[in-house]
Amino acid sequence: MSTAYSYACKDCEGMEDCPGKVVAATEDEVWKLMELHAVVAHGEDPSSWDGETREYLKTLVTPE
Ligand SMILES: [Zn+2]
Repeated sequence: MSTAYSYACKDCEGMEDCPGKVVAATEDEVWKLMELHAVVAHGEDPSSWDGETREYLKTLVTPE
């Protein structure tokens, strides 16, 4: 039985209209894909995310 973690962008505050969702086997991979999504889809710079932002995003990465 395999586990998967996912992050749905629409769960993020202010991103309700974004259809972006990433799924991967590990939380680490989800983070990488989430950061890539933020760059490509939202023009964000993940290296500028502060601890509070990361703590918040962490709550949105859920096992499925
Ligand atoms: Zn998005």
